[in-house]
Amino acid sequence: MEHPGGHLGKAKRTDKEHSREQRLHRENAMLKRQVARLRNMLERANLDAERARELRHLVKLQYKEEREATRAAAEAEDKAARRWACRQCDQGRLRMTIITRRNGTFYWRACDSGCGNRTKMQKFHEGVEGDDGGPAERPNDGADSPQ
Ligand SMILES: [Zn+2]
Repeated sequence: MEHPGGHLGKAKRTDKEHSREQRLHRENAMLKRQVARLRNMLERANLDAERARELRHLVKLQYKEEREATRAAAEAEDKAARRWACRQCDQGRLRMTIITRRNGTFYWRACDSGCGNRTKMQKFHEGVEGDDGGPAERPNDGADSPQ
C-alpha cells in the first residue's frame, strides 16, 4: 500500500471538517436569510398596522364630515322652512316655480297649502334662492319647461 490509512484518514477528517464548515456556513446563511425574511415580514406588518391606523383615521374623518354635512343640511332645511313659511296661512310653504319664455326665465313662489298666497312673477337671475335655501337652478332652456 503506497498510501497509508493514516494519511487517508487525515484527508478524510479534513474533508469532514471542511464539509462541517460548509454546513455551518450554509446554516448560518440560511439563518441570516430567515432573519432577513422575518425582519421583512415585521416591517410589512408594521406598515400594514400603520396603514390600518391611517385608514381608521380616514374613516373617522369621513364619518365626522358626513355627520357635519348631514347636520348642515338639516340646519339649511330648517332655515329654508322658516324663511319660506307662508305668513298668510301659517301652514304651507312657498314653493318656487320657474318658467322659461321667449323673453327670458321667470319665477314666482306660491303656498303649497293652497291658501292662494303667491308672489308676483319676477325675472330669474343667478343668486335667486331655491326652495332648499341654496341657489335655485335655472331650468334647461326649453327642455322641460311649460309652454
Ligand atoms: Zn299659505
